[in-house]
Amino acid sequence: MALADGTGLEARAVVVATGPAAAAQLLPGLEVPATRTVSTLYHAAPVPPLAEPTLLVDAERTILNTAVLSQVMPGYSGDGRALVSSSLLGGHRAGQEAAVRARLAELYETDAGGWEHLATYAVAGALPAMVPPLSLSRPCRVAPGRYVCGDHRATGSVQGALASGGRAARRSSPGGATISGLPGAGRCALGQRR
Ligand SMILES: Cc1cc2nc3c(=O)[nH]c(=O)nc-3n(C[C@H](O)[C@H](O)[C@H](O)COP(=O)(O)OP(=O)(O)OC[C@H]3O[C@@H](n4cnc5c(N)ncnc54)[C@H](O)[C@@H]3O)c2cc1C
Repeated sequence: MALADGTGLEARAVVVATGPAAAAQLLPGLEVPATRTVSTLYHAAPVPPLAEPTLLVDAERTILNTAVLSQVMPGYSGDGRALVSSSLLGGHRAGQEAAVRARLAELYETDAGGWEHLATYAVAGALPAMVPPLSLSRPCRVAPGRYVCGDHRATGSVQGALASGGRAARRSSPGGATISGLPGAGRCALGQRR
């Protein structure tokens, strides 16, 4: 395996666990899905609009989801106000902040007029597009000794990335590797080949 600093490494197996664009560069010929941009807006509210660490999913899809981050991680607010994070598909659009604020008022059943808009971050390539027909489990072995994993090989989510990573670990460790420390998973024996 050739490294960027000009040196090399001997490896029985190489697992490429990058996003789709970098994976396509590192593994020429690899088919990768199109990606979606996700924008996240941050607001500061005088009081928490929801006093619990819960992710609200917008069934009307004006936004994807929203959470009072400071209820999840109190240290994320430096001044006692509530930090509200809200994500939606796509990049910046005219009138976006006002539309999101209006939807947040409905979702949290509160007056969001006095909230301070802190920032909006648009992340290009945030998620792989999941268009039909969708394969929930794409092969992780691309060539002898070469493997690929990530959300773009499964579903566009942390869960998909973990599932894909588990598959790549099982396929690339015929002797039976072991992973420990996954939240809630205990120890997970990875000796089984698929
Ligand atoms: C704003 C936003 C909100 C999200 N919200 C949710 C959510 O609520 N729930 C959910 O389940 N998922 C959510 N996701 C999606 C989730 O974050 C991803 O699906 C998941 O992180 C994908 O994991 P991954 O390991 O496939 O890729 P990544 O987490 O992208 O990891 C790839 C890694 O490869 C590294 N890399 C890139 N190029 C190279 C290279 N050439 N060499 C070495 N390393 C390289 C990158 O630095 C990165 O660390 C969200 C994503 C975004 C952007």
